[in-house]
Amino acid sequence: QSFRDVNGVPPWLKATLTGKDRLNYETPTPIQKHTIPLALAGHDVVATAQTGSGKTVAFLLPCLTAASAAAKERRKANQKGPATPSTLVLAPTRELATQIAEECAKLCFDAPRQQKNWCVCCYGGANARPQLSFLARGVEVLVATPGRLVDFLERSTQRGPLVDLSNVRFAVLDEADRMLDMGFEPQLKRIVAYLPSSLQRQTLMFSATFSQAVKGVAQTYLDGSRLAEV
Ligand code: AMP
Repeated sequence: QSFRDVNGVPPWLKATLTGKDRLNYETPTPIQKHTIPLALAGHDVVATAQTGSGKTVAFLLPCLTAASAAAKERRKANQKGPATPSTLVLAPTRELATQIAEECAKLCFDAPRQQKNWCVCCYGGANARPQLSFLARGVEVLVATPGRLVDFLERSTQRGPLVDLSNVRFAVLDEADRMLDMGFEPQLKRIVAYLPSSLQRQTLMFSATFSQAVKGVAQTYLDGSRLAEV
């Protein structure tokens, strides 16, 4: 099996994944083999995955496929104004968030010109201003740490909210157990209130372990009836 055989993925994304002079990923890793078809078929996915398993591509590929479709819709409808995120990825640390954003930028290498800079990364411990100006220019994939995102969500200006999550189609929780270990449970619960209901979007959740606390967060984010466990 190759990424070329996966239906529904935009051709530019397949080309970037498989090109000899691009990422050159010949075969999907096990987590990708399991997660990608389920996510593309509309399921919520909860997956046990370690670092190094290829989980980032496992969630970014379905998200970028949806983002590409959303961008096409906007063009067709001749919608002006900056895009609001169709994907939200939550990660525990600045390092992981940055890594995810870098992987996303690599995957978008062959994307149409206007889609190249559609990933924005927001994390704490850094000046908020450049992050906010990137958000204001429009974003398809927002990668964020929970604390900084709550800060942006709860701080609105005269011109309205700083970040709008009402068009999110994919919510991804990466390293969910680590987010809980770091004390982000209250933030995760606050963020979900800004997202469309679990029936109007999909959730992809990755964790190395599944404690009761992780299962509790899963319940607040996803729709049990569509759930697939990997
Ligand atoms: P991750 O578990 O997402 O941190 O990925 C670990 C590493 O594997 C990253 O450096 C990826 O670029 C790489 N990778 C992801 N998917 C594949 C694949 N299908 N084939 C080869 N390498 C991959």
